[in-house]
Amino acid sequence: MSLIQLLPDHIANQIAAGEVIQRPASVVKELMENAIDAGATKVDVNIKESGKSLIQVVDNGSGMSADDALLCFERHATSKVRKADDLFSLVTKGFRGEALASIAAIAHVEMRTKLADDATGTQINIEGSKVVNNTETVCPNGTSFEIKNLFYNVPARRNFLKSNKVEFRHIQDEFERVALAHSSIHFTLTHNDSEIYNLMPGVLRKRVVDVLGKKTNDRLVPIEESTDIVELNGFVLKPEYARKTRGEQFLFVNDRFFKSTYFNHAINKAFEGLLKERTYASYFLYLNVDPQKIDVNVHPTKTEIKFEEEKFIYSILLSSIRQALGKYNIAPTLDFERETSFDLPMDMKSKPVSEPVIKVNPDYNPFHSTSNRNTTSFSGGSSGKKSENFSQAITKHGFGTKEASSADWENFYTIDEAPEEEEPAPLIEDETSPGISQFLIKGNYIFTPTKSGLMVIHARRAYEQILYTDLISSFITNPLQSQVLLFPIEKELSKNELVAWESNAMMLKQLGFVGEVKEGELHLSAVPSVLQDETIQKALDRIVETIAHRDIEKGEIAHELVHSISKSASMKKMNLNSKEAVNDIIERLFQCENHAFTPGNKKIIDTLSLEGIDEKFR
Ligand code: ADP
Ligand code: MG
Repeated sequence: MSLIQLLPDHIANQIAAGEVIQRPASVVKELMENAIDAGATKVDVNIKESGKSLIQVVDNGSGMSADDALLCFERHATSKVRKADDLFSLVTKGFRGEALASIAAIAHVEMRTKLADDATGTQINIEGSKVVNNTETVCPNGTSFEIKNLFYNVPARRNFLKSNKVEFRHIQDEFERVALAHSSIHFTLTHNDSEIYNLMPGVLRKRVVDVLGKKTNDRLVPIEESTDIVELNGFVLKPEYARKTRGEQFLFVNDRFFKSTYFNHAINKAFEGLLKERTYASYFLYLNVDPQKIDVNVHPTKTEIKFEEEKFIYSILLSSIRQALGKYNIAPTLDFERETSFDLPMDMKSKPVSEPVIKVNPDYNPFHSTSNRNTTSFSGGSSGKKSENFSQAITKHGFGTKEASSADWENFYTIDEAPEEEEPAPLIEDETSPGISQFLIKGNYIFTPTKSGLMVIHARRAYEQILYTDLISSFITNPLQSQVLLFPIEKELSKNELVAWESNAMMLKQLGFVGEVKEGELHLSAVPSVLQDETIQKALDRIVETIAHRDIEKGEIAHELVHSISKSASMKKMNLNSKEAVNDIIERLFQCENHAFTPGNKKIIDTLSLEGIDEKFR
């Protein structure tokens, strides 16, 4: 006689139920997902006593025939997967055919279902996997489930349920996750006869606001990015509204909620330096990827998902969020009301990568042009030496003369003569004469007046940020433009550096570096076009350092490398001799979503407020 026996179905189902149905919230999730898979446009969830006495889910979806109505409670009964291949192109939530069998094994279930074409529907009652009633009935199109006495035959589970408050919190969490993933479906949630949610169909933003509250609307920062591998959209909350708990962190892939510590890391990285201590970023991010490139089969409750291209997606998350935050968070804190022409729309993506055009006027001499301009004068206080040339004044006051020829003095604004009164009068007029561009270049800095003070731009950093923004946005979709070197560069690298180069070869190629390892040396035949002469070596050193010696998350390498390239490329001497060149750099800086900080978080712009300047003269 054999010792091995097949388990009876009801016991097998009960065991399986342990995995799929942990608490009332699991039932809510499975039933809601089935409703969506059935094409419902309205789903009503009605709960009593946190699901301990009733879970009811009513949908207006396809409904089932009398035959299917019975079959759906069988284990591995599913209409969603027919052949093994289907597993790799899933677009439905369910596919295991386990949920209904599991629920039916551990509760009392009443189901009423009707196909739209049928005159009557079917009612099934099933208790502990036993069908106790199967009748024709009159009911609306779609399907309704009533689950009572959950875990009635699994006392261990029942006893482990938490307080009603905690269990309902779980239900609400599951409800929100499903509702947030399907903004075009009308969902309601009722608990003990009071309505918790009535979410009308609408666009994603509306759904997020309806779930999180009206106040959220102004706090959302949209995120949008589209690449071959992933489409990303959704919102993050501005950092100042970060929560003390991790509650509002939602990631979805192909409309399915999932959790990922890896992607969470990317998102937190994007928020780095912007969050108050012990607060967590809130986000609602939706990834769309080819279903073939994910594996949802890893976890029975399916909240962990494997991605084939996870490193790429990590980079996309990091870069798009960082850019969006730059635009929405940092920018408004700058006092920048200079000229409206700078409020250009952000259209970098359609623009080819190019360096700023810097034109040089060799004949230009700032010291010759001042005499025939209007009174460029310096307010010399009460001394009365009011006609002193501004450039001379600055030179005299110890700012050095070396860079004098590169300074665009002629365009510096006119400063009024200081009034006699004690009262500090405005140093800078609110209205500056239109048509005159007002820059002063000194060393690394561009000075320019704003409505309420003086803005100082670090020119090299500005250029670095411009390059970075250009490169990163084009890198996401295409390889960077590369130039073949006339004389290939041979570089001796350590063994470990060569290995690092080879293992990042694909990424480096995408960045425009073409090279091969020969006899322990790197032979580089092409480099990104933005690099020239001396900056090539600088970039190369930085890149080798980054890939071989720095401890960087894999997903961040692309960023770091683009950062290295833009930083090195910006190291060459800049010519800011013409108004056009300066204008160009400023305009392009303000087209960058993040124009306040470099990728290395160095300040690009500062403004000296009028009050601050007044302060210095007290
Ligand atoms: P799965 O969702 O993994 O296929 P389930 O046990 O959740 O497995 O459901 C089994 C089957 O029952 C589904 O494949 C579907 O055909 C049918 N079904 C379940 N719920 C509904 C519903 N609300 N409307 C229509 N059909 C449903
Ligand atoms: Mg299902």
